[in-house]
Order: sequence, then structure tokens, then C-alpha cells
Amino acid sequence: MSNGKVIAICNQKGGVTKTTTTANLGIGLAMQGKKVLLVDADPQGDLTTALGWPDNDSLPVTLTTVMDNIIHERDFDPFEGILHHDEGVDLLPSNIELSGMEMTLVTAMSREITLREYLNRVRHQYDYVIIDCMPSLGMITINALAAANSVIVPVQAQYLPAKGMTQLMKTIGKVKKLNPALKVDGILLTLADMRTNLARLTAETIQRQYGGVLKIYKTQIPIAVKAAETSTTGKSIFAYDKGSKVAQAYADFTKEVLADGAKTKSKSAVR
Ligand code: ADP
Ligand code: MG
Repeated sequence: MSNGKVIAICNQKGGVTKTTTTANLGIGLAMQGKKVLLVDADPQGDLTTALGWPDNDSLPVTLTTVMDNIIHERDFDPFEGILHHDEGVDLLPSNIELSGMEMTLVTAMSREITLREYLNRVRHQYDYVIIDCMPSLGMITINALAAANSVIVPVQAQYLPAKGMTQLMKTIGKVKKLNPALKVDGILLTLADMRTNLARLTAETIQRQYGGVLKIYKTQIPIAVKAAETSTTGKSIFAYDKGSKVAQAYADFTKEVLADGAKTKSKSAVR
């Protein structure tokens, strides 16, 4: 049986558009006819809010619930609690309770692979599972990386990410012991201010530093006020600001991700 490709959107720096990219890549892929599950793996619940569930503390089933069920080996319906967004993606939501899971995992037997075990029960229903990681490299993020086939790293085009990137690559290196097939699909330059040379200079520097070992997506996501507004509307950029540069950029980026391939053989990355 084929399994959906699991992609972690990861960077321990906050504000680099992990959440925005997860939502718009997911909906971009759904618009191309793909079945997509988005997983909110941040206790802030920003993805859950951004997709239209701002009252996420009242949700009965979240990522915390299903991970807790895996840890305690309870029988449960793995699809219970998955929400359906009207632009065609599914969402496993989160709220602040996930911060307690960080501690629970420390003493759990399968502490690094709890999320993988959960996703193995649902991923056959999807072409893509995209995990929106939190801004840290703690246990939840380790779980996301251990469950993933690949990682996409959004990087703010205005700043040189040097130090943070080294840390992230080290963590990915460690997780490869649990998940040898894990690969970095690429770096996505975001919040690029096309009016300045800085975005271009940063792109060139990143290309020089990492281009030899990592792919840098051709598409850059421009900075735009409307794109920032989207996170309060419950909609994607495609619905909220159709025809805009940011919508076009996310459509182009979606095509680049599609070109990397979707389904993975059952036993490839995830044992
Ligand atoms: P992260 O998940 O990495 O913390 P977010 O996706 O929450 O990042 O984005 C950080 C902030 O930038 C949010 O306020 C968001 O609305 C805003 N934002 C996202 N994309 C853009 C964009 N293309 N242009 C301007 N602001 C953006
Ligand atoms: Mg976020």
C-alpha cells in the first residue's frame, strides 16, 4: 500500500512563516487534487486558528489526545478529531495542552516515535501529511522529524540564518539515527522584500553556504500585508487574495513540492 509523504515544516526560529507556509502549501496541494492532512504541532495552535478554529481550547480531540492514546496503548479511532476545512484539507488541531505532552514524552517508552506511530495509522488515506512545527527543537519537534520523510525549512530572506541552521541540521542529523531516510527537501526563502537588494543578497549567501548540500527552492515568498492578514481569516491566500503575488508564489512553490514526488512505499522511511 502507498503512504502519504510526510513533510515537516521546521525551523526553531519563530516568525519565519512555518504556519503560513503549512496552510498555503497544504491548500495549494489540495487544489491540485491531492488528499492532504495538516498537523498542528505547536501548542500555540496558530495553524488551528489560522484555518478557522480560533477557539481551539474547546476542541475535544487534538494532537495531544491522539499522542496520549498511543503512549497509553488505548484503542481509539485515529480519524476521530480530524477537522475538515472547506478549501479541501484535513487538520489535526492543537492547543496549549500540547505543551504538557513535551513533559509526558520524556518518560514515555516510544518517546521519539509516538507521532510516527500515530501517523502510520492515518497516512494511507492521504497523499501528503504536512506538520507545522513549533519554534523549538524539543520532543514534539523531534517527534515530527522522526515521523517525516522530508523537511522543508522556511528561512526569512532578510536575515542570515547561519547559527540557527547549524543547530537544526545537527538535530536532523541526530534524528536520522531513528529515521535514516529523512532528508531535507529544501530551504524556502520567505518574507522577501523585493524592493531591496537584501533579499537577493541573502539568497546568494544562503546559496553559497548551503547550495552545495541543500536545495534552495526557486520560488521566494514575497512580503505582503495581505498575506499577514490571512492568518486571521480562516482562509488560504488563494481564497483571501486571489491573483496576488503571494498567492502566485505559493502556487509556484506547490508545483516545486509536487515535482519532488508524493507517495512513498510503505516501508521506506517509516519502519
Ligand atoms: P511561524 O509559524 O514561523 O512563527 P507565521 O506563519 O506565524 O510564522 O508567520 C509570522 C508572521 O508573519 C505572522 O504574523 C504572519 O501573518 C506573517 N506573514 C506570513 N506570511 C507573510 C508574508 N508573505 N508577508 C508578510 N507577513 C507574513
Ligand atoms: Mg507557527
